[in-house]
Amino acid sequence: MIYNECTTQAPRFYCDAMLGGTARWLRLLGFDTRFHPSIDDKVLAQHANLEQRILLTRDKRLPDEQRPDRVYLVLGNKVDEQMRELVTRFHLNLTATPFSRCSCCNQRLRPCSPEEMKLKLPADMTSPPQAGFICPACGRCYWMGSHVARIRQRMAGFSDAFAMES
Ligand SMILES: [Zn+2]
Repeated sequence: MIYNECTTQAPRFYCDAMLGGTARWLRLLGFDTRFHPSIDDKVLAQHANLEQRILLTRDKRLPDEQRPDRVYLVLGNKVDEQMRELVTRFHLNLTATPFSRCSCCNQRLRPCSPEEMKLKLPADMTSPPQAGFICPACGRCYWMGSHVARIRQRMAGFSDAFAMES
């Protein structure tokens, strides 16, 4: 692998077209992760280099063909296997910043008021959340509802350390 251990900061990623599900989970855990499935490998490698991101790929040929500065070949087939693999490989701290990024577009979320939430949520929603977070880029709303327990349970499967703290 061409990846070099170099920083105490959380790693930033660029996922290739085969890693969309994993990109979403990395974002949910707060890791800065780009994913543009329609760009070709050459552009993907250029963007990853320019933005100094670790390129995550499932394509065995890509590291040799495109020579990105930092690349990691993901071996797992399923999203949960891939997440476990990345947590181990990059020592990802899952408790640092979960639920701080938009899972759709990678923007950092900001808190939003009950009034703002009301405008975004369906009018007929029973017991609408009182507060939550909003994505400044795509306008998507996030709140700590009953679904969060399911998400956290899945995250616990990515890391034994996270499972113990949850
Ligand atoms: Zn968004």
